[in-house]
Amino acid sequence: MSVKDNLKFVMEEIEKAKRHSLTNEDVNLIAVTKNHETDVIKEAIDLGITDIGENRVQELKSKIDELGPIVNYHMIGNLQTNKVKYIYNRVNMIQSLDTLKLAKEIDKRAGSDGIEVNCLIQINIGNEEQKSGIAYEDTLKFIYNLMDFKHISIRGLMAIAPNTDDKQYLRRLFRKMFEMKEKIIKENISSVRMDYLSMGMSSDYQIAIEEGSNMVRIGTKIFGKRIY
Ligand SMILES: *Cc1c(COP(=O)(O)O)cnc(C)c1O
Repeated sequence: MSVKDNLKFVMEEIEKAKRHSLTNEDVNLIAVTKNHETDVIKEAIDLGITDIGENRVQELKSKIDELGPIVNYHMIGNLQTNKVKYIYNRVNMIQSLDTLKLAKEIDKRAGSDGIEVNCLIQINIGNEEQKSGIAYEDTLKFIYNLMDFKHISIRGLMAIAPNTDDKQYLRRLFRKMFEMKEKIIKENISSVRMDYLSMGMSSDYQIAIEEGSNMVRIGTKIFGKRIY
């Protein structure tokens, strides 16, 4: 299958899932381009992709250098504090904010440029030891702790679901994410916007959308299997 056919399929599936979604909202598609060359990415952009995601700083940085501002860039992987400087002012969004230390560094850098950086708070929804993200229960507390950082714009939540075939379990986890988003909205915190609920990957995006996701991050189903 070509990228064109894959993309067509994914977009149709997104539309189908939307009809059963809790929110009926439009769904933003982030094409995850890790381990793929820029010519494939250019092809995807020609086919209408407007946003790409990368999970490693070095690769993200070199793709931004090569492609330039023809697309929106999302940092979706674990971000070390000492690498913030390479990307904070070149990405559209950092989706993996999960420590105060990281927030402090982003805020400091953004502050000295007089800009705001869009961030999503990453939640470790499956409580998995090997995954980053804050504990689900700590979400509100974490958000209140971020209030001091004037150069961070909180735009929503992000989660990577566990790798499992148990669809009911996945559905419950996605539903919990949606409930947390609603809970935060009810808190009515003036500087916090819950515009995005970023969840759903190649293996689970349909369920994620049904449970209220409005941003899916898809790699394999668009570009094929990654060769490492
Ligand atoms: C790789 C990755 C994806 C996409 O995964 P696929 O299964 O290839 O769709 C989404 N989100 C994050 C954070 C990733 O690292």
